[in-house]
Amino acid sequence: MTARRRALAPRPRAASGALPRAALAVAWCGFGACVDPVAPQPLASAASEPPASEAGAVSGAPVLRVLGTAQDGGLPHAGCACDSCSAALVDPARARRVSSLAVVAGGRAWLIDATPDLREQLRLLRPARGVPGVDRRPVEGVFLTHAHLGHYTGLAFFGYEAIHTRELPVWGTPSMAAFLRANAPWSRLVEIGNIRLHELPPGAGVELDAGVSVTALGVPHRDELSDTVGFLIRGPRTRVLYVPDTDSWNAWDPPLVARLSGVDVAILDGTFFAADELPGRDVSEIGHPLMRESMELLEPLVSAGRLAVYFTHLNHSNPALDPHGPQRRAIESRGFRVLAEDQRIPL
Ligand SMILES: [Zn+2]
Ligand SMILES: [Zn+2]
Ligand SMILES: [Zn+2]
Repeated sequence: MTARRRALAPRPRAASGALPRAALAVAWCGFGACVDPVAPQPLASAASEPPASEAGAVSGAPVLRVLGTAQDGGLPHAGCACDSCSAALVDPARARRVSSLAVVAGGRAWLIDATPDLREQLRLLRPARGVPGVDRRPVEGVFLTHAHLGHYTGLAFFGYEAIHTRELPVWGTPSMAAFLRANAPWSRLVEIGNIRLHELPPGAGVELDAGVSVTALGVPHRDELSDTVGFLIRGPRTRVLYVPDTDSWNAWDPPLVARLSGVDVAILDGTFFAADELPGRDVSEIGHPLMRESMELLEPLVSAGRLAVYFTHLNHSNPALDPHGPQRRAIESRGFRVLAEDQRIPL
């Protein structure tokens, strides 16, 4: 793959949901790299190879497809029979796959994160691709947020024992890439050429298609194996900030509200609703922002119609999983939403 560098052309803002650019002129700091969130940034291009196949390919205007919305352990959660997990076992409509998105543009698709539910998510993405046998290029590439169970272990399905892809582009921070290169079984994917790693430091971006790009944003999170990023996904009409996994917003510098400058849609960490939902544990010590706190913080932007907020990465303990429960009603009455499986967000 060539590494053509391009400047991202300025594009008209969405008619609604946009923040005034001058209001919050701050830098996106990726714990080292800082860039203006709105100014055009140099981007590496991923558009140098033709689509693997046009047969049955996704087509039409650029769109974000939601492939999963659960915390790393999924719903039902491994080894659990709580009310939410039991409901999901009885009613498949209550089940949720592990958090993941696909950016679909120009008849091609890129994954954001490779989850343990990757097999099902690939089927969801391209159920009628029409390739005989195993499609060895099921997506154009993968962007990774970090090295926790739900976000990268699906890479194993691209390996020799399964799809056996050839030089599938995988973008991660230098720290994430170093972890994959140095540790089996991920190092094996690199050594035999199933994947090709591309380092994407916080602040750097990749242009996927005309007017569609993905830029990494450094995020504070438990960094045992790698650091962590979220992604700013820019489309011709809409800018989406995706942060499925983060420490409390108090740990953000600059603060979240400043980083939402120019963003139309925020898809944010909704792991826990409130501090008391895990018996015997204080979830605030686990480090995620609580939905209640996120709503307090962002309600002025949401109620003013300047930002749409969806929660994702819900833990099985989160009472907002119940579509008829009081917590879900409280979220929706304040103008927020829980991200739905297979939801589509036009870009
Ligand atoms: Zn996670
Ligand atoms: Zn459970
Ligand atoms: Zn994590």
